[in-house]
Amino acid sequence: MFDLSGKTAIVTGANTGLGQGIALALAEAGAAIALVGRSAPDETVEKIKAIGGNSTVVQADLSSLETVDEIINTTRAELGGLDILVNNAGIIQRNNAIDFTMDEWDSVLNVNLRTVFFLSQAFARSCLKAEQGGKIINIASMLSFQGGIRVPSYTASKSGLMGLTRALANEWASKGINVNAIAPGYFATNNTAALQADPKRSAEILGRIPAGRWGQPAELGGAAVFLASRASDYVHGSILPVDGGWLAR
Ligand code: NAD
Repeated sequence: MFDLSGKTAIVTGANTGLGQGIALALAEAGAAIALVGRSAPDETVEKIKAIGGNSTVVQADLSSLETVDEIINTTRAELGGLDILVNNAGIIQRNNAIDFTMDEWDSVLNVNLRTVFFLSQAFARSCLKAEQGGKIINIASMLSFQGGIRVPSYTASKSGLMGLTRALANEWASKGINVNAIAPGYFATNNTAALQADPKRSAEILGRIPAGRWGQPAELGGAAVFLASRASDYVHGSILPVDGGWLAR
């Protein structure tokens, strides 16, 4: 039920952090992976090779829409199919709302929401053309549910992503395309480096996590495999928190 042998997945932003953890978990379950991102994901390629998996690299800057069709076409051409899209790439800008700039707003919304929508649209079109189903997994956040501090564009993007996940599920569930999201809690990656380095914020965050520690990227793998596999065929429009219990507080 969780076997992904013969399936192909795109994982955006797979060179580091959560994207790398997700790509490895999908590869371990048997999927071939197209690693999409700005910089070369050499470490991820090596790790996938080490577990006997198959991957290809598609270099693309997701701050613009120029490469959206190329990502889909290259994946199908090089890996022979396309079944799963993980919209993981994302950025964050920290500043007081009162000082926030247009660039801090647009840069985050472009990568975290605009490209996610149009890449999902291109993926769904390609599934329909191939007369097959598909699985879209969006990487949301605790700030899909909460306001956050000093990250207004990030909160807007991740709250929007939760709505988009539901909206696309409503339109595409009947076509065999599952659209769901994972909402990670606080994970030790580049994205949270500033928080981990701030003793006050770090202590506040840890004090609220029932599990008592930051998450590790590999710990998202199980949720990703579930949402990518047959095991979730009747799951549509859900947001699955993997948060050490944060939202339960
Ligand atoms: P990260 O900074 O290590 O990873 C972000 C990835 O996105 C990198 O691979 C980066 O190269 C890629 N990326 C960013 N801008 C890009 C662009 N213009 N074009 C192509 N690729 C681009 O951080 P992470 O924590 O692994 O973040 C992954 C996702 O998880 C993000 O969407 C983030 O918002 C989300 N998230 C992270 C946490 C956490 O605690 N770390 C919590 C909730 C959600």
